[in-house]
Formats: sequence, C-alpha cells, structure tokens
Amino acid sequence: MAKEIHHRLIILGSGPAGYTAAIYAGRANLKPVLIQGMQPGGQLSTTTEVDNFPGFEHGVQGPELMEKMRAQAERFDATMVYDTILETDLTTRPFRLTADSGDIYTCDALIICTGASARWLGLESEQKLKGFGVSACATCDGFFFRGQEIAVVGGGNSAAEEAIFLTNFATKVYLVHRRDRLRAEQVMQDRVRNNPKIEPVWDSVVEEILGEVGNGGVRGMRVKNVKSGEVRELALTGVFVAIGHSPNTAIFGDQLDKDETGYLITRPDSTATKIPGVFAAGDVQDSHYRQAVTAAGTGCMAALEAERYLTELEDHSH
Ligand code: NDP
Repeated sequence: MAKEIHHRLIILGSGPAGYTAAIYAGRANLKPVLIQGMQPGGQLSTTTEVDNFPGFEHGVQGPELMEKMRAQAERFDATMVYDTILETDLTTRPFRLTADSGDIYTCDALIICTGASARWLGLESEQKLKGFGVSACATCDGFFFRGQEIAVVGGGNSAAEEAIFLTNFATKVYLVHRRDRLRAEQVMQDRVRNNPKIEPVWDSVVEEILGEVGNGGVRGMRVKNVKSGEVRELALTGVFVAIGHSPNTAIFGDQLDKDETGYLITRPDSTATKIPGVFAAGDVQDSHYRQAVTAAGTGCMAALEAERYLTELEDHSH
C-alpha cells in the first residue's frame, strides 16, 4: 500500500552531484534519503573509461566510480531509495514528492540533482528506429555494430568521444556535423583526424534515417549538405545521436526559475533556488561545465547549504 514518509532531507538523483551531497549530508548526521531515479548512477553509469576524475591516475570505469560513490554515501548512513519521482509540490511545507510507486515523500529540505538526458534530432524516423539501430549511447550499444558501417551525429566532445570509441567495433564511422569544424576540444579533434576509420561528413544535416523496424532496422541515412544543397544517402546500419543534453526538470513544472534552455537557475556562488530549502546541483543547473567533478563540487555545496538551512529552520522552531 502507498505510504506517506517524512525525512528532513531528500536528495533527488544518483549521479556524482547526488551521491556527493549524500556523503556530506550523511557526515553532517542529517540521515539523508537519496531517491535514485530512472537511471541509478546517472550518465556515468553508461560511460566506460573516465580519465579526468581526480584521484584515479590510471582512469576508472564510470559504473565503478558511481558504485564507489554510492557505497561511500551508505557508509555515512545515507539511505538509497529505488524509486522515481513523478510529481513535486514545492509550494507547501513540508515539500511533497509523489513517486512512481505511489508513495508520497515529504521533506523539509530538498536537493535536486536530476541531471540531464540526451537530446534527439526530432525526426520521426529517429523515434521509430530507436533501439533498432538508432541509439544515444555508444557505450551501451556499440558492441552490436561489430564489423559494420555506422554514423555519429554531432560535433562536440561527446560526438568525438563516441566516434572514437565506436571504431573499436565498426569498420567505418561517419561523423556527421552541421558545420565544417568540430566544437570538441583540440585533443579530441586531433584524435578524430588521426583515426583512419572516421570519415567526417561536414556541413551536413540528417534529413531522414532509412530503414524498417521489422526488417533489419536501420539501413541508411539521407544527409543534406547545407552549403551545396546536395543530398546523399549513406549506407549504414547504426546511427548514434550525440548532440548534447537537456536538463531533467519536467517534474518541477514552473515552480522554479529556469534559463531559456530549461536549466535551473541558482543564486550566484550558491546552489539555492528561489524557494528557500530547495537547492540544485550538478548538470540540472549547469549547462556549461557538465563534468563529474564539477557536479560533485556543487553537490557538496548543496549539502552544506541544506545543513545550514535546516539548522536555522530548527533553531527558529524552538
Ligand atoms: P555540446 O553541446 O558540446 O555539443 C553538441 C553538438 O551537437 C554540437 O557540435 C552541435 O553543433 C551539435 N548539435 C546540437 N543540436 C543539433 C541538432 N539539432 N542537429 C545537429 N547537430 C546538433 O554537447 P556534448 O554532449 O558533446 O558535450 C556537453 C559537455 O560535456 C561539454 O562541455 C563537453 O566538453 C562535456 N564533455 C566532456 C567530455 C570529456 O571531458 N571527456 C566527454 C563528453 C562531454 P554546433 O557545434 O554547430 O553547435
């Protein structure tokens, strides 16, 4: 039966921001409860090697890093709840969160670390062929394309990283970008250029992904050169879309301030939102850096700010 459960502090999301907030709040004796969401471990749970998280001189696997963060939070009495919040009411006190299980969670302070999810091109054929050759996660699905020709769409670090990773399996990787220059860092650009299996397709947009669901899935892609107007068909069996991310803020409706791309707005040098007691950390409020280590940093800030908030709240009520 659905229950109503109260906690002083709830953390939403299980990426580096959420787990770090839980570690700090746990050490402050706040007995935090972390609601994991749909993808326990967040985006890093779908990556392979993480080479830039300090403290791991030889790199670490993304899922392993997240496991370690979770275990560290649990060592300080943080409780993990495997549920997903579908609706929030931040206009009442305590705040009310309705979960997928039907349970209602209430809390005095809330730290939002719901992260961001992959963006899609918005083509009907893309939606139709998702899981049938169209993917947004090279590390999840790359293995299925051994010995085949595929494409990655995008020009940022993610696209470059995915294209390079996919050359472990595919015989050829087209890198389709809408401009004639990658946005990715120089070191990634060099790796792309030096990889003989990657063929850049510059100045090109995807018009259609070709193929049928019950009939072998993706078989090609129609791309248009935006400068010459030329349309060509690439024969391939997989399409990886890597065009950035959107923040996961739908469950807050318009209760919190967002910027023009939907990221939560926090006060300068703070994780505080416009609602006292509600804090936001990690990718859900950061469209700029989007690194595991910066997410962890803001998760720490949010826990410290929530602790201060709860202490003041409880002092006033005595
Ligand atoms: P970015 O926003 O950096 O790049 C998105 C890319 O997709 C851009 O090249 C953009 O083109 C293109 N794009 C966007 N929308 C469309 C569309 N509708 N159609 C076609 N192309 C489109 O996202 P990333 O996910 O690559 O990276 C996000 C952040 O994460 C960055 O800060 C990045 O540095 C970081 N990151 C770091 C990694 C690392 O350090 N190892 C690995 C992966 C990501 P255009 O260039 O024309 O705008």
